[in-house]
Amino acid sequence: MEFQLSDEQRLIAESAREFADREILPRVRENDRAARFDRELASKMGEVGYLGAPVAEEYGGRGLDYIGYGLIVEQIGRADSSARTVVSVQSSLVAGPIERWGSEEQKREWLPRLCSGEALGCFGLTEPDTGSDAANLRTRATKTDSGWSISGQKMWISMGNYAEVALIFAQTDPAKKHRGLACFLVPTASEGFTAQEIHGKLGLRSSDTAEISLDEVEVPDEALLGEVGDGFKVAMSALDNGRYSVAAGCVGVCEGCVEASVAYATERQQFGVPLARFQLVQEMIADMILKRDASRMLVFRAGALKDEGKPNTMETSVAKLHATESAVECANLAIQVHGGSGYVDDYPVERYLRDARVTTLYEGTSQIQKLIIGRLATGVNAMLPFEEA
Ligand SMILES: Cc1cc2nc3c(=O)[nH]c(=O)nc-3n(C[C@H](O)[C@H](O)[C@H](O)COP(=O)(O)OP(=O)(O)OC[C@H]3O[C@@H](n4cnc5c(N)ncnc54)[C@H](O)[C@@H]3O)c2cc1C
Repeated sequence: MEFQLSDEQRLIAESAREFADREILPRVRENDRAARFDRELASKMGEVGYLGAPVAEEYGGRGLDYIGYGLIVEQIGRADSSARTVVSVQSSLVAGPIERWGSEEQKREWLPRLCSGEALGCFGLTEPDTGSDAANLRTRATKTDSGWSISGQKMWISMGNYAEVALIFAQTDPAKKHRGLACFLVPTASEGFTAQEIHGKLGLRSSDTAEISLDEVEVPDEALLGEVGDGFKVAMSALDNGRYSVAAGCVGVCEGCVEASVAYATERQQFGVPLARFQLVQEMIADMILKRDASRMLVFRAGALKDEGKPNTMETSVAKLHATESAVECANLAIQVHGGSGYVDDYPVERYLRDARVTTLYEGTSQIQKLIIGRLATGVNAMLPFEEA
C-alpha cells in the first residue's frame, strides 16, 4: 500500500490548483451572484484537458488514470462546485459512457469535441416522475422504419441548455422493465428537442440546470449507445464514475473549508487573541480535517480499484456518501468559525454550504448510496420494499 502521490500525480494536482486559483476563483463570486453559466470557463477547462482527463489520447483526452482525474476534480471543486459539475458531467457522465459503450463512429464524432470543450454534453436520466427509481422511466423510444422516435420529459439536467449532445435514456418496451431501456445520443438541435432553464436553486447557481422536452424526436439506429436493453447498464456504469467525480469534488470543498477557516481563525482576534487560540475553534477545524482526510482516503481507494479494473461499486458509494455528507458538515462548521462574516459572500464558506447541499441529492441520494452499500453487504435488495429481493 502506497500513501504517497507519485511526482507526476503531485504535478497534476499542483497545476490544477494553479489553474483553479488563476482562472476560476477570480470569477466565482460574480458568477454565483448572477447565476451565470460560464461557457468561457468551460472552454478554458477544455483547453487544458480537464473535460476529458480519463479519456484515451487517441480520442482527444489526456489518458489519465482515475487517481489523476480525481486530483484535478478535487482542485476544481475546491474553487467552485458549479465548474466542477461541468467537469464531472462532461468527463464521467457523457464522454466516459461514449468511450465505453460507443461505436468507433460515435467516438470519433463526439469525443474530440467534448474533450476540447468545443461541444458540451448532458446526461438525461431523471424525469419529473422518476428520480431515485431510475429503472422506471416514462420517456418512450418507438421503432420507426428509419430509426427511433423519442418522446418524454427530462428533469434537472445539468448543462441541458448548452449541450450539443444529450444522452437520453428511454424505454423501448415497458413490459421488459429495466431490460427494455436504451440510451440514445441525441443532437440537441434535433426537431422536437427543447430545453428550459430551471431557476431559483439554493446553490450551484452558476451551473446550468434544465428541464428537457422531447416531442417525437427522430434519431437513426446509429444513435443507439450500446444495444437496446443496455440502457440501464449504461446509466449505472456512468453513475459509478460520476459518483467518484462528485466525491473527489467534495474533498475539494472540505479542503476549501479547512483553508478558509485556518486563515480566518489565525487572523481574526477576539478577547485580545486570535480565534485559533480557543480550543472550541480548534475543535471545529480538527473535525473538518478529519472529515476531509477520511473522504480523500476513500476517494483514493475507489480510484485505485478503478485503475486496477476491479469491482468498486461498494467503495465508490462509500466514498460518495462520506465525501458529500462531509462537505455539507465542513461547510456548516466553516461558517461557524467565521461567525457573522461566514453568512455573507465576502468569504467562500456560505457558497460552499449552498453548493455542497446538492451533492447528497444528485447522482443518487445519500439514502440510495446506503441502499446500494446495504444490498452489496447483505445480498438483500431493500430498494424495492414490496417485491421479492
Ligand atoms: C442541481 C441538480 C442537477 C442535477 N443534474 C442531473 C443530471 O445532469 N442528469 C440527471 O439525470 N439527473 C440530474 N439531477 C437529478 C438528481 O439525480 C435527482 O434529483 C436525484 O436522483 C433524486 O431524485 P428525485 O429528485 O426525483 O428525488 P426522489 O427520488 O423523489 O427522492 C425523494 C426522497 O426520497 C428518498 N427515497 C427515494 N426512494 C427511496 C428508497 N427506495 N428508499 C429510501 N429513500 C428513498 C430519497 O433519498 C429522497 O430523500 C440533478 C438534480 C439537481 C438538483
